[in-house]
Amino acid sequence: MNLKIGTSGLNLVIGNITEQETDAIVNAANSSLMGGGGVDGAIHRAGGTAILEECKKLRKTTLPDGLPTGKAVITTGGKLRAGKVIHTIGPIWKGGDCGEAELLADAYRNSLLLALENRIKSISFPSISTGAYGYPVDKASEVAIKTVIQFLEDNKGLDEVRFVLHSAHDLMVYEKTLQELIKHNRKQQDLQG
Ligand code: ADP
Repeated sequence: MNLKIGTSGLNLVIGNITEQETDAIVNAANSSLMGGGGVDGAIHRAGGTAILEECKKLRKTTLPDGLPTGKAVITTGGKLRAGKVIHTIGPIWKGGDCGEAELLADAYRNSLLLALENRIKSISFPSISTGAYGYPVDKASEVAIKTVIQFLEDNKGLDEVRFVLHSAHDLMVYEKTLQELIKHNRKQQDLQG
């Protein structure tokens, strides 16, 4: 499923993020930046040691205490088809009243800003926080898609933002969310006449 926003495309696909040929892929990392399970482990395995080497350097220089939730940093993509990996930290789900939605939106926004700063034209996101961090995928998809659409409306320079969902179920949830947002926007426009 895809949507055009100005000159940018927003695409929802099912697949493995490590195989994407976009200029950058986003890693749902943890604050240590030292690798982990889920998509983080898959990216480090597929990209090789060059990614971890750069993460270690970042920890030694600018991030001695690790990367805070909602922030993003960029490294090489190592052996990946994507030249760059943007590492961001989503929030751990604690029931929804601990600022999770704002922090998740920050993770997407700061990743997109970093992409623009690095002249990246296309970027793939996984479904941040909805694995080990336990964020319900329907709620997360709304934050993710709304944040990306808002960013693409406000900023020029990205040709494509791709969500790479790891299961048919997650793809279905993201598609439903996007369809509902489109329907809602049409209704608003009709009301405004
Ligand atoms: P978090 O700790 O942010 O929840 P996880 O890696 O546990 O991160 O999960 C985030 C999402 O990434 C989950 O939906 C999971 O199914 C998905 N995922 C895991 N491996 C891959 C992969 N290779 N490509 C795309 N998505 C993946």
